[in-house]
Amino acid sequence: MRPRRSSLQWRFGVAIALLLLMMLVLTLALWFRQTHGERETVDIARQSTHALLIQQLRESGKAQVQQLVDSLTNPLYYFDLEDVGNQARDALRTPGVAYVLVYDSEGRILHDGSGTIPAYGRPMQDPLAGRIVAADAMLVQQEGRTLDISSPIRVGEDRLGGVRVGYSMDSAARAEEQTLLGLRERLSDVNRVSLWWLLAMCAGLGVVCVLGAIALQRMLVEPIRMLGDAAREIEQGNFSTPIPSVKHDDELGDLTRAFEHMRDSVARHDRDMRRVAYSDALTGLANRLAFRAALDQRLREMHGTGGQLALLFCDLDDFKSINDTLGHEAGDDVLVQTASRIEHAVSMLGGSDAVVARLGGDEFVILLEASPGEGLNELATHLAETLVQDLASPLMLHGRRLVLGTSVGIAVFPDDAINASQLMKCGDIAMYQAKFDGKSCYRFYSRSVDEDAMRRLRFEQELRGAWERGELSMVYQPIYRTQDRALMGAEALLRWNHPQEGAISPDVFVPVAEQSGLIEEIGERVLLASCTEAAGWPELPDGTRPFVSVNVSGRQLRSVGLFSQVSRALQESGLPADRLHLEVTETAVIRDVAHAADLLSRLRNLGVRVWLDDFGTGYSSLNHLRRVQVDGLKIDRSFIVDLLEDAGDLALTSATMAMAHSLGIVVVAEGVEQRGQYDLLRERQGDYVQGFWLSEPLAAAEFARLLVQA
Ligand code: C2E
Ligand code: MG
Ligand code: MG
Repeated sequence: MRPRRSSLQWRFGVAIALLLLMMLVLTLALWFRQTHGERETVDIARQSTHALLIQQLRESGKAQVQQLVDSLTNPLYYFDLEDVGNQARDALRTPGVAYVLVYDSEGRILHDGSGTIPAYGRPMQDPLAGRIVAADAMLVQQEGRTLDISSPIRVGEDRLGGVRVGYSMDSAARAEEQTLLGLRERLSDVNRVSLWWLLAMCAGLGVVCVLGAIALQRMLVEPIRMLGDAAREIEQGNFSTPIPSVKHDDELGDLTRAFEHMRDSVARHDRDMRRVAYSDALTGLANRLAFRAALDQRLREMHGTGGQLALLFCDLDDFKSINDTLGHEAGDDVLVQTASRIEHAVSMLGGSDAVVARLGGDEFVILLEASPGEGLNELATHLAETLVQDLASPLMLHGRRLVLGTSVGIAVFPDDAINASQLMKCGDIAMYQAKFDGKSCYRFYSRSVDEDAMRRLRFEQELRGAWERGELSMVYQPIYRTQDRALMGAEALLRWNHPQEGAISPDVFVPVAEQSGLIEEIGERVLLASCTEAAGWPELPDGTRPFVSVNVSGRQLRSVGLFSQVSRALQESGLPADRLHLEVTETAVIRDVAHAADLLSRLRNLGVRVWLDDFGTGYSSLNHLRRVQVDGLKIDRSFIVDLLEDAGDLALTSATMAMAHSLGIVVVAEGVEQRGQYDLLRERQGDYVQGFWLSEPLAAAEFARLLVQA
């Protein structure tokens, strides 16, 4: 991996390179200093050698000249020129002597050591001559590269003349050069050795740096980089990532161990958080998130294997009323008990791979799995049957027995859906189908009911708040006395003016409202609105006041709140109880006869009249009529339609009327569309009639106008 510009490794590399560069520069500087020093040393040596040699030349010259003075005194005194010449020649032969001049007291040359003495008798005229002739003592002078030493020669006070010897300094210079050459050679030897030492030191330091860098890389950079990599892995949720094992008991070891502890604790927190995030706090079952994850995984595994999955979507029937009437704590209790029943059933029948989850509210889901040919449908059917049966058995809630049903929808992968959200949707739709088919049952998903169910689902959502938005309103269909067609009252009918779809029939939306529980809220408003409207209706010509007949759904009948709702509506509107009629269907009554009988009798005690609606369409026997006290029967439209053609319908209607009269119950015929039907009903002594032939349902204001005209 190439180190990044900001990484530790990069910075160490740069620092070491700088160190090496610095060492190189230092070595070069040292080397330069040394060469310079060598030159200085040679210069100093040259100067001192030079001075020394000159000094030597001077001393030896002075000694030789003194010796010459001594040996020349006599010959000069006696003017023995030959001896003078011998002495001069001998002196001239001495190495380094350039000339020898013997002169008289006037400074004239007597001998120069040569054989012919060409300069004999000539005065010395060189620049040094003046001082030499005048000097009283030995005189040393330098002229160019020659050292001139002269001395007067005397006998007593008499000055005989003098001698002058010129020493050439060339040989001294040569000797000086010789000496310096040796010195230079020695010095450069020493220098070379020093350079080698320097270079060796430099190389040694370089090696130390590189080794240091490697050690640093191994001991610090590499573990830190690995810790960084591990941290990134942990961030990705990979808690099993290895952490560099540093055994040393140093700061890095501490850091690594702390890092390891941190990883373990993060992993622990992650596990805890997942547990919380993936489980339902109330029931301890898997939650929606966990279920979706499990479903997605199963679907991935199933892909191409030919295996099947079944999704059972369970929804408690009428759970909302438990929450509303007994409180949320009781609701929670019901959910916990339901969850444990479901878990038990699944553990007995669902196989080891089954998943149970609570999606929220009163919705539970179960996922079953089967290999090809294992009969998943049978398994799902068996489990659904068991669940419906088990969950219908009474629950004990704070000493109270409570009976709840469950509707189960089943969707199968890959027959109904091939992905998770589709499968969930199909299960949901199938569950709704089970609800529509009377609840406490199970249904397999079927494509044909899909659209219908979707529409109902949509309606359910749109129906919420429809009253507040003013989309729901009441119309009133007049009800007449058969005898004289006198207007007696009206049936209050609910209307939904949907913003997009226009008027929607109550036959469509009332079941939706009922299934979703919305009817309880809407029904309460219907009651109050109808009572308030009726309270303002004027007196009829016979002095009585018109009644209003309000439809009450099965669900309202089963709920505990109906009695108080009715009392409240009467109280708030000021409508006398005997002018309110409640229409209940016989199927609603049959579901729980005991409860219905009790509630209806309490309502009748208030003074409210109860009419049995849609009479003849259910399976009620006359037996029920004896147990449930009602004030009237509304013979269903379907009997009236064929009254003129179908002798059977006529017979049934007549028998019903006769039977009702014998029990003191009034009979209302609804759906009268033809004059003939009306006539026939009047002939058979029906009490009241209602139908399009007489009047269609009218808006409140129109009905009020009709009353005034009556
Ligand atoms: P229902 O209680 O049997 O109401 C009578 C239905 O028959 C009304 O239909 C009415 O318009 C219709 N009808 C009356 N005369 C004739 C006729 O001569 N020919 C034909 N073909 N039909 C006639 P609507 O208003 O569509 O109501 C349908 C059902 O919706 C009602 O049947 C009732 O069960 C339910 N419903 C209506 N309003 C309410 C309400 O406020 N609460 C409850 N719970 N249910 C309601
Ligand atoms: Mg009705
Ligand atoms: Mg009816």
